[in-house]
Amino acid sequence: MSFTREPVRHPMAVRHLTVARVAKLTPTLTRVTLIGEELAGFASDGPTDHVKVFFADPATGILTVPELTPDGIRRPESGTIVSRDYTPRAFRAATADSPDELDLDFVLHGTDGPASVWAANAATGDALVVAGPRGSRLVPSGIARAVLMADETALPALSRWLELLDPEVEITALVDVADASVPAYLSDELRLRADIVWLYRENGPDQLLAALRGLGPIDEETFVFGAGEASTLIPVRRYLRHELGLPSQQVALSGYWKRGVANLDHHAPLDPSDPD
Ligand SMILES: Cc1cc2nc3c(=O)[nH]c(=O)nc-3n(C[C@H](O)[C@H](O)[C@H](O)COP(=O)(O)OP(=O)(O)OC[C@H]3O[C@@H](n4cnc5c(N)ncnc54)[C@H](O)[C@@H]3O)c2cc1C
Repeated sequence: MSFTREPVRHPMAVRHLTVARVAKLTPTLTRVTLIGEELAGFASDGPTDHVKVFFADPATGILTVPELTPDGIRRPESGTIVSRDYTPRAFRAATADSPDELDLDFVLHGTDGPASVWAANAATGDALVVAGPRGSRLVPSGIARAVLMADETALPALSRWLELLDPEVEITALVDVADASVPAYLSDELRLRADIVWLYRENGPDQLLAALRGLGPIDEETFVFGAGEASTLIPVRRYLRHELGLPSQQVALSGYWKRGVANLDHHAPLDPSDPD
């Protein structure tokens, strides 16, 4: 069984876009729909794609963005670039009645993150600069089953897995969210695509690992994806890789944020004491 996820490269782009509308999906998740001529050619083919979104430096209020030059991306000589990663939840190509549109879904988690603060205040007509995605990794082909784990930040990625996996693939989703207000995020159609177990953190910690253990053995035709708070995923990774002995290609785990850390580098090993 191969779990290869074919890579696809996209031309690099830094897009200056405008907010067309904002929709509150749940009390803590808000959808920002972006439009702009620079969306032409936007492509995102994989469930774990991400764009870089740029925000004003909270210390100065100044927005600094990279420039695309014939030699590639160039940082301006002055200014501090503040960027965060977001999943392109949906891209709709222009029709006769509507322009190209890109949806980004933001978790609103308080007042100490520039991205969350921006999203909480976003309004029609606001500007937003978005770079990428540089590339996509397609869903693995030939698998029989997928186990998908997500917290709120990975609900856009989970949604894309649900849309992109072959209809033959049996899906179990373990979704670790604050409370019962969050499931409304997923459309009825997507909810029907998977066997979804909703875990509410208000009911206690460590439910994700317990639920994963409760699934029993994971066979060699099952692909496992998980994204969310990095510290929560470390014991999950140990279980999958060391207790069950699954090879690295069968397991894709990514820390999308880490409690107490601003702008977590998701390319760094999830568990620094046990890098892949
Ligand atoms: C590949 C990838 C895709 C992602 N896709 C999405 C997406 O589609 N939607 C989305 O909302 N997020 C997504 N994220 C996560 C998002 O990039 C982080 O949550 C980011 O830190 C938010 O930036 P911020 O400016 O709000 O907070 P930061 O300035 O980065 O952090 C400030 C403080 O807030 C805390 N914090 C950060 N995020 C959260 C959170 N979600 N809940 C509680 N506390 C938090 C930090 O621990 C820190 O203490 C993705 C991350 C990656 C790597």
